[in-house]
Amino acid sequence: MSISIPPCPCGAALPYAGCCGRFLAGPQHLMAPTAEALMRSRYSAYTLQLDDYLFATWHPSTRPTPPFHHEPGLRWLGLQLLAHEQTDADHAHVEFVARSKLAGRAHRLRERSHFVREGGLWLYLNGVVS
Ligand SMILES: [Zn+2]
Repeated sequence: MSISIPPCPCGAALPYAGCCGRFLAGPQHLMAPTAEALMRSRYSAYTLQLDDYLFATWHPSTRPTPPFHHEPGLRWLGLQLLAHEQTDADHAHVEFVARSKLAGRAHRLRERSHFVREGGLWLYLNGVVS
C-alpha cells in the first residue's frame, strides 16, 4: 500500500509542503533562501493564484498595481529551470521555461528573471522574455 502525495506544482520531485508550500505559508513565509527557490515558489503561486504572495515577493519599484490579472481559463502545465546564477550577495538571475495552455493552445514562456535581496528577503525585480 502506498500513499500518493501530490508533487509540488513547480515540478520538483518533492511534496508541496516541503517545497514551495513552506514559503507560500507557514513559518518560512516569504523566506525562500535563494532566487531559484523564490522563482519556483512564485511559479507555484501563479498556479494556485496566491496573489498576496506574488505581490509580497515583487520589488516595490516594479510591482504592478493590484488586483493581479490572471488570464481566465489559463492552465499552467510545468516549469523547467534552465539556469540560476547569483552574481553577487544580493543579485541573481534565473532563466526558465513555463508552459501553459489557453483555449486548447499550448504556450511556452521563456524568461530570464532578475532578483534582488533586500533586508534578507529575495524579491522579483523584472524579467526579459526571449
Ligand atoms: Zn516547489
